[in-house]
Formats: sequence, structure tokens, C-alpha cells
Amino acid sequence: MAANLNNYKKLLLSLQNKLEGVLATGEEAAETVELDQTRMGRLSRMDAMQQQEMSKASNQRRQLKLQQITAALKRIENNDYGYCHECEEEINPKRLEHSPTSKYCIECASAMEG
Ligand SMILES: [Zn+2]
Repeated sequence: MAANLNNYKKLLLSLQNKLEGVLATGEEAAETVELDQTRMGRLSRMDAMQQQEMSKASNQRRQLKLQQITAALKRIENNDYGYCHECEEEINPKRLEHSPTSKYCIECASAMEG
């Protein structure tokens, strides 16, 4: 487990890095939309506003993801990473590789979703 932890940490850090980059450029794009509005007709302005709303929503999703990544990194620091918060069993490594911010094992997660 300890050897794997470093891999997950790397994975999480690179995800964090990528998200922070996308968030920075996403915010720039949202500002650009606002500036261009003065030169647009009513319809395209509504399009632009819609686009802005969409990019705001996906930025919110990214921010949430970033919070999950930060929390997962904290769990690594506390040696709490990779264990299900519900049943305290080890989370399947394949699940963690696919979704390194998972807090629950597959069984508990699907029980919660269902
Ligand atoms: Zn569980």
C-alpha cells in the first residue's frame, strides 16, 4: 500500500495541476465573453450569456473536483487514503487508479447511489 501511495499522490497532484490550469484559462475565457458582448446583437448576446453560464457551471464542477483532490491528498498525508469511509475496507486499487478521489469502496458507493 505504501508504495502505491506515492503513485496516487503523483496522480492527484497532476490532476490538481491540470485542473488549476484549466480553471485559470476558463476564467479568462469567461471574461472575454463579457467584453465581447457590447459588439454583439441580442441573440448572440444571449448565446454568449448561455455559454458563460455553462462555463461557470463547469468551473464550479472543476472547483468541486479540486476540493476532492485536496481532501484526497490530505488523506494520503494522514495515512487514511485508500480506505472506505463507510466500511473501512481497502478500496480496490483499480477503482483508485480510475478515480483517485474515491472515498468509498465500490460496494458502498453503489449502495449509496442505488
Ligand atoms: Zn465500503
